[in-house]
Formats: sequence, C-alpha cells, structure tokens
Amino acid sequence: MSASQAYICATCGVQFAPSSRPPKHCPVCEDERQYVGWSGQRWTTLDELRRDHHNNLRDDLGLLGIGTEPSFAIGQRALLVSSPDGNLLWDCITVIDDATVDAVRGAGGLRAIAISHPHYYSSMVEWSKAFDVPVLLHEADRQWIMRADPCVELWSGETKALWDGMTLIRAGGHFDGGTVLHWPAGAEGKGALLSGDILQVAQDRRWVSFMYSYPNYIPLPAAEVARIVAAVEPFEFERVYGAWWDRNVAVDGKNAVRRSGERYRHALGGW
Ligand SMILES: [Zn+2]
Ligand SMILES: [Zn+2]
Repeated sequence: MSASQAYICATCGVQFAPSSRPPKHCPVCEDERQYVGWSGQRWTTLDELRRDHHNNLRDDLGLLGIGTEPSFAIGQRALLVSSPDGNLLWDCITVIDDATVDAVRGAGGLRAIAISHPHYYSSMVEWSKAFDVPVLLHEADRQWIMRADPCVELWSGETKALWDGMTLIRAGGHFDGGTVLHWPAGAEGKGALLSGDILQVAQDRRWVSFMYSYPNYIPLPAAEVARIVAAVEPFEFERVYGAWWDRNVAVDGKNAVRRSGERYRHALGGW
C-alpha cells in the first residue's frame, strides 16, 4: 500500500489531494447544498471503486454518455461532445479505468474537459492526466477545488469562447461559477445547451428548474432565476441535456427555459 492516496468522498464523489490518512471533512458535503452520508463521512479510492464498478458508454440523444454502474455518489453521467477541431468532455465522473480511456480514445480522444460546478469535479485530475488535456473551471468556484493541479485552468467573466463555436456560459445560481455549455452544432445544427444541474431538467422533461440546493430543497431568489434565463437568452438551442442519463429536453428547449423561469418566479410570488 502506498503511503499517500487520493481519497474520494463516497457521498459527493470528489477526489481530494493525496494524503497519508483520509481527510477529516468533506467541505463539499458539509456545505448546505449537499449533505454528509447518513452513516457518517465515508471515504474510498479509485482502486477500491474499480473492483466493483465499471463505466457504461452509450448514446444519449445523439451524444456519447459515460456513466458508472452501479451508480456511484451523485450518479451524473458525462457527455462526450464530438467536434471537428477536438472533442470536449462535458462534466466528469469519478470512475475512470483502462476500458473507459480506450473507448474515449477510440471515439477521437479529448481536447479539454469542462465541468458545470463543484459537485461534478469528481476525479477530474485523473481524467486530465489520462488524456493530457486541461480542465476548464470558472474561477468563482475555486474554493471548492479539493485537488489543486496545474491541469486546472480557471476562466473568469460571463462567457468563454471555445473552438467550433462552442461557448461556456457562467449562469451562476446553484454555484457562483455555475457553468453551462452552448454547442451550436447540437440537435442537427439547431443548437444544444448542456446544463448539468445549473438548469435542472425536470422529471417531465419539458421543463427545467433552478435551485440553490436540490437535496435540501433550497430555492433561488427570483432575481437570480431571471439572471440565469437572461444569461442563456442570446444563444439558440433546441435541446437541453441535463446531468443524468436521458434527463434531456428533446425539443423546444429555449422556450422550455423561458417558461420555466416564468413559472418559477410566479411560484415565488411574482416578479
Ligand atoms: Zn463529499
Ligand atoms: Zn449540484
């Protein structure tokens, strides 16, 4: 056994900087947007996870999704955005193994990784090292980086232009640096928004929601919801890809965001 290990919080799936003993706390889970597991703080490692978990790669509404089985921690799946000038991994998951790396290489590899918010930082440094690519995070959430590494590239401001017309948009809300990706080539050229849970695709998949905390049911102020809707308004998109398998708005996504913002503000008691 090596002296130092990169421990992983079993509840949020975030990997910490290597240490000889498990960390005392997980600040991500102790934050009011998350929760500590009911049996107390538990830690695991990638080696341990690889023994009884693997990744499933399959199509999710025209994108290659990558998710872990059985489900681990928050259970999100990542999406591989194929693009002529290089592929982008949108959001990230904790489990990475040789089979996953081979499959992603077979699909054209990666040019960069971009992550919506700290709940999905997962084992981003491992993914970055496997593909030798940067991880793009909004600087407003830098305090939530539990494993600092030169591979992390912080960006600032309201938008960051990537290649092939793709744009990272700081929508905020759930986290100050909460980011969504606009992919203009998505939905056969009608555009797509990859939203993590910054714009949360609702169970009926025709609406989205906007919360400060999903597990603890803490809403956002009306003004913040209006700001999120305004942040994506300049972009055209037909689809909204949420954070879990098949949690997508397949059609009329932009109107779904508009009317969802209105419904939310109405529920809060007006404008
Ligand atoms: Zn945690
Ligand atoms: Zn979250």
